[in-house]
Amino acid sequence: MNAAFIAMATRCDLLAALEARGSRTSRRARSLRVGARLKWNRTAPAREALAKRAVDIGLASAALAVAAPVWVPLAAWLALRGRVFDRTRCLGRNGTAFDLLAFAVHGDGPGRLGRTLGLHRLAALFNVIRGQMSMAGPRPAPIGELSPRDAAARARYQVRPGLVGPWWVRQRTNVAYGHEAAADREYVTTWSVRGDLGLLARAALALAYGGRGEPATTRRVSMLGVSIDNVTMDDALETVGGWLEARGTHQVAFVNADCLNIAWRDRAYRRMLAGTALTLGDGIGLKIGGSILGRPIRQNVNGTDLFPRLCELASRKQARIFLLGARPEVVAGVRHWIAVRHSADVVCGAHHGYFDTAATPGVVEQIRASKADILLVALGAPRQDQWLAAHLAATGAKVGIGVGGLFDFYSGRIPRAPVWMRELGLEWVFRFYQEPRRMWRRYLIGNVQFVMRVLRERWGLAARALES
Ligand code: UDP
Repeated sequence: MNAAFIAMATRCDLLAALEARGSRTSRRARSLRVGARLKWNRTAPAREALAKRAVDIGLASAALAVAAPVWVPLAAWLALRGRVFDRTRCLGRNGTAFDLLAFAVHGDGPGRLGRTLGLHRLAALFNVIRGQMSMAGPRPAPIGELSPRDAAARARYQVRPGLVGPWWVRQRTNVAYGHEAAADREYVTTWSVRGDLGLLARAALALAYGGRGEPATTRRVSMLGVSIDNVTMDDALETVGGWLEARGTHQVAFVNADCLNIAWRDRAYRRMLAGTALTLGDGIGLKIGGSILGRPIRQNVNGTDLFPRLCELASRKQARIFLLGARPEVVAGVRHWIAVRHSADVVCGAHHGYFDTAATPGVVEQIRASKADILLVALGAPRQDQWLAAHLAATGAKVGIGVGGLFDFYSGRIPRAPVWMRELGLEWVFRFYQEPRRMWRRYLIGNVQFVMRVLRERWGLAARALES
């Protein structure tokens, strides 16, 4: 037992004795209790920090040992040429400056190959062993880029910068919504050794199949005959925000791999999607499709992640939302979800999604009477999008969005996949696991069909099939 622990144990014994003596000494007891608690609170993170350091040294040493056949000859070759390391001055924990190391591979031949394979980055493992960096943490920031005096960036300097961080993983799997500083703050307040190990595992998977976070070049991407708006979540929200202040009606559709499979067979659906104001790319399938076609998709802009941001936007702009779709108890649950987080006034009306064609005029009239600005329709794709194409103008809503199964998530009927699965684009695996009987065709067969079709498009064989 160390001295600090003995001192604390003695303090706790004294506390128990004082409490046993009754109220006259209760103030002193209380102050000791607080002191003891503080001490415990301090020691637990200290132990966790020690464990993190041990894991860092262990993993960095192991990685250097495994990669020794690569970096030792590389370093020897660079030494013969005169310079082994490139150094970038960065800010580390508590704003302390350090040199971020990279093997000085440049130019053509082996140098170029080394850079393409990312071998130059292996040198940063020495920064980890020296204690300047960690395996996981916020990206190391070159001096002058993110000042510790800048309130938004301050949190990141409470920990060592990492070789990989949550923002890095999210960028590679297309779910980097919002801002890096917020992701850093989240990491700093929630990190644990277990969390770091999970993050490293996710980073390894993201490296294996994620993109390089390459910049998307085109505003629209065509895939299987459907034109997708290649925008970020923030762009989409800004566009919707603009529509709320303008005249006219605008339809928004989300398309995932399953929708593109349907559009492949269904010419009317394909034509309808061509007429929407915004068609957003949802899911890892489209990212993979974009990579195959050499047209990178910028972000996974799906309805479920957009929904809370849209509610926030509506609340800020005092716009009214009408919810249409799903079972009565489910739509009531979503209404409650919004009322608890914003205000009951944000939702101006709701109707379940199990009505027949004869009831449609009544439903349209109910929406019109509610004076809704935003109409969210959850009837499943492509029915919801066709419903909007036919009736949105008559409802008087400025924006109509087909949102698929998201009411089921926000009402709590179906749990959403854990964050780590979403970060890796594995939400579909979770959906399949929840409802295998309903989903097996969509995912097990549909995903393969989708990739085959995209490959055909890549090889120039798709146009003929789509025209027929
Ligand atoms: N739904 C509905 N009426 C129907 C069929 C479906 O309201 O006639 C609802 C269903 O309850 C679910 C939503 O449509 O909440 C979307 O279902 P699904 O999971 O198939 O949508 P996806 O996200 O796959 O398009």
